[in-house]
Amino acid sequence: MNLDDDLYREIILDNYKSTRNRRALESPVFKQEGVNPSCGDDIELYLKSDGDEITDASFEGVGCSICIASANMLCNAIKGMHVDEAEALVDRVKGMLTRDETPEFPEGAEDLEAIQGVAKYPVRIKCALLSWNTLHRLLEEVRGGTPAGDT
Ligand code: ZN
Repeated sequence: MNLDDDLYREIILDNYKSTRNRRALESPVFKQEGVNPSCGDDIELYLKSDGDEITDASFEGVGCSICIASANMLCNAIKGMHVDEAEALVDRVKGMLTRDETPEFPEGAEDLEAIQGVAKYPVRIKCALLSWNTLHRLLEEVRGGTPAGDT
């Protein structure tokens, strides 16, 4: 258990420090802001999609380590996913953090297990879920068709 905690802490730190996904995407792009006032997390999530598949994802903004690490894992996980798969993943992450479920994460999304420990700290759950709630709203926009981002 302690070994896992150390490993998970390392995964969160690596994702927090990663800059690979921290950039804006050129329009046309789907984008949504997500704000968590209780912590000060404020991110902008960008998504590119051909209508079925998510072709690129990135984010910008400020946030605590949990918020940023979770957003980075999100971007890594959903690139190349079908919109429905991404929506299913949102539900799995929510299930893990709010319904005490132990989900099976698809290949490429295994890092997400590392944020499971956050479920023990109710105030941090919002930090971890911020990007996922934002993604949920974005996916509805993708289903609607046209990017609302500046064109
Ligand atoms: Zn936070």
